[in-house]
Amino acid sequence: MNIHEYQAKGLLEKFGVAVPKGIAAMSVAEATAAVDQLPGPLYVVKAQIHAGGRGAGHFTNNPEGKGGVRLCKTKEDVTAAAEAMMNNVLVTKQTGPEGKEVQRLYVTDGVDIAHEYYCSVVLDRVTSRVTFMVSTEGGMDIEEVAEHSPEKITKVSIDPATGMSGFHARNLAFSLGLEGDAFKSAVKFFMALYKCFVELDASIVEINPMIVTDKNEVMALDAKMNFDPNALFRQKEIFGMRDESEEDAQEKEAADWELNYVRLDGNIGCMVNGAGLAMATMDIIKLYGGEPANFLDVGGGATTERVTAAFKIILSDPNVKGVLVNIFGGIMKCDVIANGVIAAAKEVSLNVPLVVRLEGTNVEKGKDLLNNSGLPIIAADNLADAAQKIVDATKQAMKAA
Ligand code: GDP
Ligand code: MG
Repeated sequence: MNIHEYQAKGLLEKFGVAVPKGIAAMSVAEATAAVDQLPGPLYVVKAQIHAGGRGAGHFTNNPEGKGGVRLCKTKEDVTAAAEAMMNNVLVTKQTGPEGKEVQRLYVTDGVDIAHEYYCSVVLDRVTSRVTFMVSTEGGMDIEEVAEHSPEKITKVSIDPATGMSGFHARNLAFSLGLEGDAFKSAVKFFMALYKCFVELDASIVEINPMIVTDKNEVMALDAKMNFDPNALFRQKEIFGMRDESEEDAQEKEAADWELNYVRLDGNIGCMVNGAGLAMATMDIIKLYGGEPANFLDVGGGATTERVTAAFKIILSDPNVKGVLVNIFGGIMKCDVIANGVIAAAKEVSLNVPLVVRLEGTNVEKGKDLLNNSGLPIIAADNLADAAQKIVDATKQAMKAA
């Protein structure tokens, strides 16, 4: 789960990680008023979206204009920057071409930067350790640094049995060439950052840039935090920071129905019961030359209503040009699935080919329901047959269109 920069900085500050003073604003008026609570003489207005690269981005209503991070010298500048951002669509390298609408702003104290660095903390799945990555190449895409000058990235991994010690932090600060007060400030920064990462069950904390100010203080100028969704039951405060407007609408709808749905890039929608069978279904679609549009596990105890919701979610994706329903009825009964498919297809006027493969409990009842439904359903006998049929039918439907 993702949160906004202003929320991440609030959490970092609680753990003693230095950040510039800032105030979140939900309107232009609030952004303007924030100026009175900041020391000045420089202010920064920052668009809050769940994506980075805002500074170098652009707004769709003014493609030649400035991006989503603007330095301002007066209250009037802050108002103008806030007006240019609020409710407009910001496109960055990370949003994709459709961009994201800005609904929240963050007005911060503008600090004087002596140098920008990169710092992130991630869970390295190869070593199973919390790992720091730092680089002198701050403010840039770390992927590019990794590709062109990997020697400029220093990694330090922390043994979970001992946790982080002073020498880890000193190694990091040393690798950045820091000295004196900046060195001391960096050590404190890294120690606090580690504590924050572990105690909040974060999966990524990325500070890009981490800066040394003109007063030799180390600070997080930007902050991106991601959390392990499996730990959210014990991180109530963080769960409360969820911004649903930033989430994929279909994935959110699926979560509300307790369906396990992940949207993908292909054009064959899949409705399957059981995560393993859903994975196998996606594999076999690919084997026959198709591309799945989603992963969807309707679960074992789904009702007709939930199956209907699932089917509607699949069809609401405009990329879907064919649907494969693959059910092995164990706990889930085939007639329940059939009723859900029929109800949903009637509600949303099905206009793409639909292949159904049913097996297991109440299979005859399910097949009878589908055969008598009047829907143009292509029946399949087994998984391979089903995959081949939906791939062929989808290709034909695309050609005809
Ligand atoms: P991003 O573009 O989404 O990564 O947003 P950042 O928060 O990283 O800001 C982009 C860039 O704006 C930074 O790399 C800085 O160079 C600049 N910037 C942001 N805040 C300040 C500030 O307080 N003072 C100065 N001088 N520059 C800033
Ligand atoms: Mg940044």
